[in-house]
Amino acid sequence: MPLLLGCIADDLTGATDLALMLNQAGMPTMLHLGVPPADSLIDWDQYPACVIALKSRTEPAADAVRASIEAANFLRGASARQIYFKYCSTFDSTPEGNIGPVADALLNLCEAQATIVAPSFPATGRTVRDGMLYVNGVLLEESPMRNHPLTPMTESSLLRLMDAQTAYGASALVPLKTVRAGGSRLRSELEQLEEQGCRYLVTDAETDEDLACIAGAVTDMPVITGASGIGATLPAQLAARDLLKPKTADPAMPATAGGAVVLAGSCSTATRAQVARFSRMAASFRIDPLSKEAPSDDIDSLTERVSRAAREGDVLIYSSAEPEELAEIQSSLGAENAGQRVEEILSGVARALYDRGKRRFIVAGGETSGAVGAALGLKELTIGPQIDPGVPWMVSKGDESLCIAFKSGNFGSDDFFSRALEMLP
Ligand code: ADP
Repeated sequence: MPLLLGCIADDLTGATDLALMLNQAGMPTMLHLGVPPADSLIDWDQYPACVIALKSRTEPAADAVRASIEAANFLRGASARQIYFKYCSTFDSTPEGNIGPVADALLNLCEAQATIVAPSFPATGRTVRDGMLYVNGVLLEESPMRNHPLTPMTESSLLRLMDAQTAYGASALVPLKTVRAGGSRLRSELEQLEEQGCRYLVTDAETDEDLACIAGAVTDMPVITGASGIGATLPAQLAARDLLKPKTADPAMPATAGGAVVLAGSCSTATRAQVARFSRMAASFRIDPLSKEAPSDDIDSLTERVSRAAREGDVLIYSSAEPEELAEIQSSLGAENAGQRVEEILSGVARALYDRGKRRFIVAGGETSGAVGAALGLKELTIGPQIDPGVPWMVSKGDESLCIAFKSGNFGSDDFFSRALEMLP
C-alpha cells in the first residue's frame, strides 16, 4: 500500500498536534522525529499517515528548504499520495520565510502548479476572512503574536505575507462564499485560478465545516499547506472515497512500573502555573542557569539527587522562571547561551534517568521537547490518548515501554501534569 498522507511539520510540538488530529479523525499516524532513513521498513497499511517533525520554523530559510526537501523525498519514495506542509495557525514566519520558500520548493519538487494556504484552525480561534488571519477575532497583527521574540507577526494579510516570502508572488483569494459553495463549484474555482497561473490559493475558513469543504476539494492536490485544523478534516474525505479503512482501537498504553519524570524548560504562563501546582505533589528540582559548574557536572549532581527521590515516586525538574528573573538571566548569559545551557542540562538528566530505568516522561516547551527527544534517541512514536487539546501520550516504537508527552509551553490546564499521569495504567 502507498502512503496516503505524508506530512512535513516545521516544529516538533506542531507535528505532535497534527499527528493527534489525524489519529483522532480515524487515520492511524506515525510521528517521526527527523527524516527516517530511505530504507526504513514502515507498514503504511498500518500507518496510512506519516508526520515528519523538523526543526525548520526558525532556521535560516536555505536550511529549512533543504530539510523539507529531504523529508519530501523520503515521502515521495514511499509513494505518498499527497504531501502536506504543516505550519503554525498563526503563520509564524518572517519576510525571509520559512513558509514561502519551503512551499515554493515543495511545489517545484512535486511539479505541482498550485497549492492552498489554509492556516485556519477555528477550534483554537484562528480564522481567515477576506484573506486576513484572525486570532480570537483580533487581526493577527494586533494579537500577542505581534511581539513574538522570533517571528513577530505585524501583517495579517495572507496574500501579502505569501507574496513577500515566495519567489512567485502569485497568491489569490478563495473567498468564504466560494468555499461555502463547496463541491464542484469550489473545485472548478481552484482549477481556474491554477490555470491563470496562481500558485498560492488563500482559502477563507471560519468554521470546521468550511475546512471540510476545502478538504473535499483538495483531496487530489499533490501538495497542500496549512495548520493542523485542515488535517482533522482530511481523513473523512479519504474514508468517503474508500481509501482509508475504519480505524481499530488505539493500542493500550504500556503499564510501565515506577514514577514519572516531568521536565519543564518552558517559561510560558501556562507552564509556570503547571510547575507551581505539580511542585506541591512531587519532589522538585530547579535548574540554575547561572550555576558556575560545567553543565556535565550539573547533570551528574542533579541526576544523583533526582534518582534518590525518584525511587519514592514522581519527580519534577524545571528551569521555568518568572519574566523578571528570566530577563536577568538572559542579560547575564545572553538568551541563546542561557537557553542552550538549560536544554543541555534538562536533556542530559533525561538521558541519564532513562539509562537508569525511567520510562515515563513529560516535557514542557517546544525547544525543550526537541532537545529531550534527541537525547533519548527517539525516532518513531505512535499516538496514544489525548491529555489536553494538541497533546497526546505517545509510545516509542524503539522501546515500547517508553511513554512520553511533548507539550508546547502554553498548552494545557494547570493540573496538566497530574492528570496526564493519572491516565497511565
Ligand atoms: P515554549 O514552548 O514555551 O516556547 P521552549 O522550550 O520552546 O518553550 O523555549 C523555552 C526556551 O527558554 C528554551 O530554550 C529554554 O532552554 C529556555 N529557558 C528555560 N528556562 C530558562 C531560564 N531559567 N533562563 C534562561 N533560559 C531559559
